[in-house]
Amino acid sequence: MTAVSPNLRVLVVDDTPQIHEDFRAILAPKHQSSGDLDELEASMFGSPRAQPTAAEPFRLDCAAQGEEAVTLVGAARDAGDPYALAFVDMRMPPGIDGLETVRRLWERDPELQVVICTAFSDHPWSEIIRTLGHSDRLLLLNKPFDPSEAWQLALALTQKWNLARQAAMKLEEVVALAERTNTELREQIRRRAEVEEELRHLAYHDQVTGLPNRALLLERIEQCIQRSLRIPGYRFSVLYLDLDNFKLINDTMGHDQGDQLLRDVAQRLRAGMRSIDAVVRAEEDVAARVGGDEFIVLLEGLRDLQDSVQVARRFLEMLDRPFRLDGREVSVRASIGIATSERHYVRAGEVLRDADTAMYRAKMDGKGRCAVFDPEMHNAAKRRLEIENKLRDAILRDRLQIAYQPLVDVRTGALVSFEALFRCHLSGIEAGAQELINVAEESGLIVPLGRWVFRRACEDLHRWREAYPEARHLRMGVNLSRKELNGEDLIRSVRETLIATRVPAGQVCIEITESGIIEHGEAARTRLRQLRDIGVQLHMDDFGTGYSSLACLHTFPLDAVKIDRAFTATMTKDTRYVAVVKAIVTLCRALGMRVTVEGIETPEQLELVTSLGCDSAQGYLFARPMPAEAVEGLLAQLPDLNLAA
Ligand code: C2E
Ligand code: MG
Ligand code: MG
Repeated sequence: MTAVSPNLRVLVVDDTPQIHEDFRAILAPKHQSSGDLDELEASMFGSPRAQPTAAEPFRLDCAAQGEEAVTLVGAARDAGDPYALAFVDMRMPPGIDGLETVRRLWERDPELQVVICTAFSDHPWSEIIRTLGHSDRLLLLNKPFDPSEAWQLALALTQKWNLARQAAMKLEEVVALAERTNTELREQIRRRAEVEEELRHLAYHDQVTGLPNRALLLERIEQCIQRSLRIPGYRFSVLYLDLDNFKLINDTMGHDQGDQLLRDVAQRLRAGMRSIDAVVRAEEDVAARVGGDEFIVLLEGLRDLQDSVQVARRFLEMLDRPFRLDGREVSVRASIGIATSERHYVRAGEVLRDADTAMYRAKMDGKGRCAVFDPEMHNAAKRRLEIENKLRDAILRDRLQIAYQPLVDVRTGALVSFEALFRCHLSGIEAGAQELINVAEESGLIVPLGRWVFRRACEDLHRWREAYPEARHLRMGVNLSRKELNGEDLIRSVRETLIATRVPAGQVCIEITESGIIEHGEAARTRLRQLRDIGVQLHMDDFGTGYSSLACLHTFPLDAVKIDRAFTATMTKDTRYVAVVKAIVTLCRALGMRVTVEGIETPEQLELVTSLGCDSAQGYLFARPMPAEAVEGLLAQLPDLNLAA
């Protein structure tokens, strides 16, 4: 608290000038002495003395009339230098009397201490109280009074005024401190609430899109399950949405653009949720992001579960419109799996699992579509998982094998190359090569599997080249899945394998499916060029099954095209296919590519493809895929071997 010098201002209000002089002599004598009055003060307040002290004279002013006193007190207060005490005479003709003076003084300064100087003949005490009310700021001093009485009163009452002022100041400070503390506390509470809200939001929302995350979604689904148990006829469904080619965009355009795409998708989902209230009570629905490119939409209060298919289709349409990323138009499509409350779920995780399974089915059926879960899918998913686990185990234990299928020159029947086809027997489960390859592709196992096949095929070829000089011209075809083609160190791995197995690059044909190449356009083109630079041959496999991309065939660096066996099978029955194969052969010739036909099973098919000008063929008519030992039997017959005979 700041130290303030004590207020010793005293006003004497009396119409008698002599009285003014008397007060001056008592309270503000010209020559200060520490005589009787000091002793008196010491006896009253003890020593050391409280302020004010007798050593400091009172600051005395005098007024002859009540009105004058009121003006002085008002001015002093306005100037911030108020009087602490006023001695007021009771009778001051011709002006207002003492009581009226006191009343008006207090109007101007309610803190002023007042001593009324009264004679017995003046107003009785009861009347004073009636006029001025009970007050602890009022004392009576009966005339005639002793100087020491006046001095004592002046000292005690200015002291009282100062203590009251100090107390008031202290109180003000305490109140101000309390207010400051309160404000700080309120601010802390507000900030804490903000932080808590932020933490809650973080815990329940996805950082990239701002959508709810898996945790929040599971809570909401749990609530839906509870509601469906309580309320008959209450229906909900979950749409599991996975973007079909997000990874490609992420890989080619970078993660920032990938994130932007996810935000744009989230935005369309939000907008879509608002537009579906014709089907459901949209205000209850949630869209969430639960994984890299996986979103979930929870539809509540459905009138008919069939409506969720309609909603899913609408989402697919919305996502079908191209997105603008980095000034370019990009299209992403989605696959959606649907699980509905029809199946009486008891746990949220089960709903998600089934919707995920249905989504997977939608992808398998060709992407860009939706599928509703049925228990049959569950069995398929279980089988897939079982195959994946056993296949992983087989790779780890080196239990893989290769079957080699010969390719022959259609004109001479001579052996020109082999295709290495992966084989694996899984205990307790019957699965064909294509199914195993599909599972390997989905699970990513295709990468170690493909490397193993590539290496073993090169090793076998090297061995045969060494053992059978007549076999030195033979080539080896190996299949490369689209996942491998996009794999990070494909080029290094191919180069290292060729060096390690001492197989000339030109003797190796890498077969890549049409869809694997076309879908990845520019990226695939770059990869193919890099493979070409190593010196390996490039064949487009299963041509005619996918995009029938005759138009862009010339844009890829290819050595040969393999016409798919489905094409071969229909060719002899439908002459239109003959015309198409003819066109393919003509185009490939013009582009300097060779043409191979797969799946030749009959002499008619062989005759037809020969007449159309195809170069080589592969099929059961010549030989089925065979183990390495059987290949050696064939090689032993070189150079006279004629597989077309
Ligand atoms: P693909 O590359 O088109 O291989 C030819 C497939 O056609 C082989 O089936 C072969 O057995 C079969 N085939 C050959 N001639 C005939 C015929 O005259 N009639 C009939 N009906 N079929 C014939 P397979 O061995 O079941 O392989 C299926 C697919 O699995 C392959 O198709 C290939 O895409 C893939 N695949 C096999 N091994 C590998 C591998 O090591 N890596 C990769 N990425 N894919 C592989
Ligand atoms: Mg192939
Ligand atoms: Mg093929």
